[in-house]
Amino acid sequence: MNINDLSLVERALIGGAWVAADSGATFPVVDPATGDALGTVPDMGAVETRRAIEAAEKALPAWRDRPAKERAQIMRRWFESIMAEQERLARIITAEQGKPLFEARAEIAYGASYIDWFADEGRRVYGDIVPGPAMDRRILVLKQAIGVAAAITPWNFPSAMLARKVAAALGAGCTMVVKPAELTPFSALALAELAERAGVPAGVLNVVTALDPAPVGQELTHHPAVRKLTFTGSTEVGKILLRQAADNVQKCSMELGGNAPLIVFEDADLERAVKGAVATKYRNCGQTCISANRFLVQRSVVDAFSRKLAEAASALKVGVGFDESVAVGPMIEAAAVEKVERHISDAVAHGAKVLTGGARHALGGLFFEPTVLADVPADALIFREETFGPVAPVISFETEAEAIRLANATPYGLAAYFYASDVARIFRVAERLEFGMVGVNESIITSEAAPFGGVKQSGLGREGSRYGIDDYLELKYVCLGGM
Ligand code: NAD
Repeated sequence: MNINDLSLVERALIGGAWVAADSGATFPVVDPATGDALGTVPDMGAVETRRAIEAAEKALPAWRDRPAKERAQIMRRWFESIMAEQERLARIITAEQGKPLFEARAEIAYGASYIDWFADEGRRVYGDIVPGPAMDRRILVLKQAIGVAAAITPWNFPSAMLARKVAAALGAGCTMVVKPAELTPFSALALAELAERAGVPAGVLNVVTALDPAPVGQELTHHPAVRKLTFTGSTEVGKILLRQAADNVQKCSMELGGNAPLIVFEDADLERAVKGAVATKYRNCGQTCISANRFLVQRSVVDAFSRKLAEAASALKVGVGFDESVAVGPMIEAAAVEKVERHISDAVAHGAKVLTGGARHALGGLFFEPTVLADVPADALIFREETFGPVAPVISFETEAEAIRLANATPYGLAAYFYASDVARIFRVAERLEFGMVGVNESIITSEAAPFGGVKQSGLGREGSRYGIDDYLELKYVCLGGM
């Protein structure tokens, strides 16, 4: 299959129609590995977004009131068609986002697993009958679809971040308007095309594409029909959207930035810790919200760990994601590469040593060398900010209390990892880390069966698991009197 066989959809989806922007304007989507234009998508704004919201509003009663079993059947067909087209969809991800094919295939399966999961969860939306305060009364608690939901998604997992949201919304009986990231809209449009073919009715899922996200965001947060906003992206943009949503008192879920620590205690299995560090750090070229960003290693094992990590990192093949032997693809854009360079030079200026990498890759373009830095001081920029790149900064600590203090010394609280063998320590540390997700002796922790989400400035709400559907439901209290 080559790049010309990807069957890219170059239209947006509103109310069951594949449409251009009203103005006819389009913008190009570029392959970050080569700089080649892959195709174009409509450059839409507030007017088209309003139309998409109205389409979702119109489609809501029929979808919401349909038996959950029927919604589940449609969603299951959608899941199956995604898996049947896994290879083509993975190639679209690699083309527009850059990650290696093996990771792109895994992303498709991962995203699809949420559709499979929420097809069933939608069938288990139970209410309660609560004993009332008086003999003649009963209290009923109903759970009902919240209404039209809006989703704004990032470029780093262009398929899975969308599937994770749409799955829960549709399972709950909501209809949706989605705005994918401007760098990677083709994955979203491909999923929407398969949804339509699987029988998702017109208007239930709408996709609006835009080069400038702000007017679309304004409309999605201010239109009274939109009762729910779900966002995955940077904390900075999340705060803007929360402020806007406040005007409409919109229910919000926010999956925002992280600054994950990975702690290695001296009783850890060092080989396992290095393997876990490589998996979390260099996957997607470090452009993952739950990627370990700070490596805290106990003094007695810091040299051995850093040496092994540098050996493993320097062995990773960097290149174009379509090459099956490649482990690390390009970064997404020039600004991302510049941020990585800034973090490395700041760390070096503060006394850090480059153990491997540290510079742009010889391939040029947006390729960067997998990097390990030693002796990084805790006040370096790279410890304070999310790098979102293939750089592992290592810092040493003496005691468990110091490790926990350093790990928690961030306004973020998405994921944390630690490697240890003492059972009492495992419980102590897991309980004290101020993060929404903690991996113990494991660094690849996401699953449709587990609640994904952060605390502090990493977000609000959870995706996946039996809890994830609650973000798309309202509770209604019905008081039955005169019994
Ligand atoms: P971003 O915040 O720049 O963009 C995310 C989305 O928001 C895109 O669709 C973009 O077009 C849109 N957007 C930007 N400005 C907007 C505005 N004013 N109004 C409405 N929409 C707007 O983030 P990004 O660079 O695409 O993604 C990287 C960030 O996402 C990182 O911080 C990463 O940690 C975070 N992320 C978090 C999770 C999670 O689940 N917590 C998952 C993936 C990525």
